[in-house]
Amino acid sequence: MGSMNTTQTTPTRPQLETLACVNERCESYGQAGRNNLTVRKRYGKDQIRYLRCRCCGAEFSERKNTALWNTKVSEEKAVSVAEHLAEGCSLKATARLAKVHPSVVTRLNRKVGIHAEAFHDERVHDVEVVALQADERHGYAQDKSQPQWEAEVIDPVSKFVVSHGQGQRAEALIRCLLEDAARRLTRRQELVLYTDGEASYASLFPEIFGVAYQPSRNGDRGRFPKLRYRIPRTLAHVQIVKQREGQRVVAVEIRYAHGSRRCVQRILKQLGYTTPNTSAIERRNGTARRMNAHQVRHSLAFSRRDDTKVALGWWGLTVYNWSRPHRALRLPLLHPQGKKTSHRAPRPWHSILPTTSGQFG
Ligand SMILES: [Zn+2]
Repeated sequence: MGSMNTTQTTPTRPQLETLACVNERCESYGQAGRNNLTVRKRYGKDQIRYLRCRCCGAEFSERKNTALWNTKVSEEKAVSVAEHLAEGCSLKATARLAKVHPSVVTRLNRKVGIHAEAFHDERVHDVEVVALQADERHGYAQDKSQPQWEAEVIDPVSKFVVSHGQGQRAEALIRCLLEDAARRLTRRQELVLYTDGEASYASLFPEIFGVAYQPSRNGDRGRFPKLRYRIPRTLAHVQIVKQREGQRVVAVEIRYAHGSRRCVQRILKQLGYTTPNTSAIERRNGTARRMNAHQVRHSLAFSRRDDTKVALGWWGLTVYNWSRPHRALRLPLLHPQGKKTSHRAPRPWHSILPTTSGQFG
């Protein structure tokens, strides 16, 4: 540690053109780049700008609607807290490292979690995939007798996590997860879904990904029969069921739950795999556990509050999706630069990242 710096460094601020009016009744509400904002004054340690909208006359802090709104802690410390949390530090460890009170960490974690979820919801749509892998990670909330699972859907090509949900490992959680994933896709009827042997995946798949049709009535009286679901030729669901003896996997059963084997084979070839598997989501499970102190296995890891765990999950996911390079996405360089022979390929979604986003999106 060097000597204390007396001159406070002001964190870089997003450009005015990237901000928008926060007044819902204003004609410029939520629209950046309309040249309607002026700086009224600067305040606080971080020289936060207090803005005025020329359209409606509303005045508001530039932090309004961000994770840092109404936070007394400096931006530098808030960023440090968020960074430590995503590196798998516990809430207490984060408080010690960032030199803030533990309650600040709890509060900031909840805020970044809420913003991460909103950011994901806003950005992740019209996703194009040929395959998806789904799985659930075991964890605990409140105490070590109360399981709270994290369920996720990943695109094995881009390693982008499309959906994330938490709760009891039951049909309701799987339904939320699959419905959420399906509505973020451009073509939900052209893909292969790989999951574990959980029965709800197979029972819910036709309803969520298939094509609904109304079977004809017997005669012209009485109720119409219930809707049925058809699986198009471009759609399939495969379950990879691992049989274990203790901790060891002794056999793997491939169950073709829906759709044709031919469709599965065609997509496997495209992915460069020889057998159906859930390797991408399993790799992601390992990474997610490393990034979340409350998901460490074989330890006394749990969140005391449900919402702490949900927030940690969303924050870790957003950091993983948007700011972590992925080894599997490297591309060879045309002209090697010294020892460097490859570079990271940007994920397709990176093109829609705002150029001047704050640390919290
Ligand atoms: Zn306005």
